[in-house]
Amino acid sequence: MSDDLYSENQQLRRQLKAFLSQARTNEQKMHRFQGQELQLIRLNSLVQLVNTIIYDYRTAFELDVVTLTLVDPSYEFQHIMEDEGVVLADHPELSFVSTVDVLDAFYGVTAEPQLGIYCPERYSFLFPKVKITLGSVALLPLIRYDQLIGSLNLGCVKPERFVDGSATDFLQRLSAVVAICLENAANHERLKRVGLTDFLTGINNRRFFDQRISEEIMRSQRRASLLGCLLLDIDNFKRVNDSYGHRAGDKVLKEISCLTKQQLRATDVLARFGGEEFSVLLIDSDETVTMEIAERIRCAIAELSISLDDGRELQVTVSVGVSLYRGGESDAGPLKAAEEQIDHADQALYRAKNSGKNCVVYFGDE
Ligand code: GH3
Ligand code: MG
Ligand code: MG
Repeated sequence: MSDDLYSENQQLRRQLKAFLSQARTNEQKMHRFQGQELQLIRLNSLVQLVNTIIYDYRTAFELDVVTLTLVDPSYEFQHIMEDEGVVLADHPELSFVSTVDVLDAFYGVTAEPQLGIYCPERYSFLFPKVKITLGSVALLPLIRYDQLIGSLNLGCVKPERFVDGSATDFLQRLSAVVAICLENAANHERLKRVGLTDFLTGINNRRFFDQRISEEIMRSQRRASLLGCLLLDIDNFKRVNDSYGHRAGDKVLKEISCLTKQQLRATDVLARFGGEEFSVLLIDSDETVTMEIAERIRCAIAELSISLDDGRELQVTVSVGVSLYRGGESDAGPLKAAEEQIDHADQALYRAKNSGKNCVVYFGDE
């Protein structure tokens, strides 16, 4: 009897030890997860966030592959990432779909995590260019305000890692946190852009231009290089609004922004300076090149025919004032020098208006 009690006692002790060990493992897992969660919450750059999800999570959760599929109908996520210097083709783990239907097909109406054996015919779309043979996968729907915004896809070579029907509390929490963080980061980027972007035309706004001209002047001073500045003002624009309506005027502003941008190099800066005025900075551009570009823009606009919604065609012209900053010849502070350069372009623009409009005038020419 006492032997039985003793062996029962030993067995209970062994069980207790196993439970404690399991509890400690779970606690460690929970700590690790919380650490990852905190790291994710702290990031507000979309690029860092996506990197953490795709690459850091693979190691942290001992997975063989992590991919992320985002619903991006207006290419917003793609533009943000590209603007931050990411070459999307280098990251097959990150992919985009233009409609939510593609992901709906995986989740159905319940939109719950899907766990199970990896079936290439069904899942290879979510794991593009993955070279290893996966055993099992967990597909986690990313949902914000009842909308599917993407899918976080975890893959493991072991078939027993993700089993259909097993508990998904942890995975559901992971996907909820990832969805919130993605949305926060996207909002953060949107705010950044709104702050420096003109709402109507989508090009840079005056605030952005004022920052950039000071930076570019400092750069010109350091390198003793030249900086061209153009101020463009649409001729008789008030008449466009009065004759065709405000919406037609808006369309003219958008088309002129777009056309002017096409005439510039990637390094040049175009901004809506205000109302129907635009400003351009031409980096490392001497008088001849600056005047050539100004004339090219003026001609392109004069030749542009703008189609209005009611079928009518409209043509406008611009007057352009040009000034040049010579980095090697001035030691004024950048703010003062920027003010002066804009003022010179403005004086030249005034002369262009007085010379009959639709022309380019250089500040230095009297
Ligand atoms: P000038 O050739 O001397 O430059 O004459 P102008 O008519 O172009 O200049 P004026 O300053 O008299 O008028 C500018 C007009 O631009 C008045 C304003 O209503 C219009 N405008 C400014 N911002 C916008 C805008 O966002 N949309 C539209 N449709 N019109 C705008
Ligand atoms: Mg004006
Ligand atoms: Mg005008």
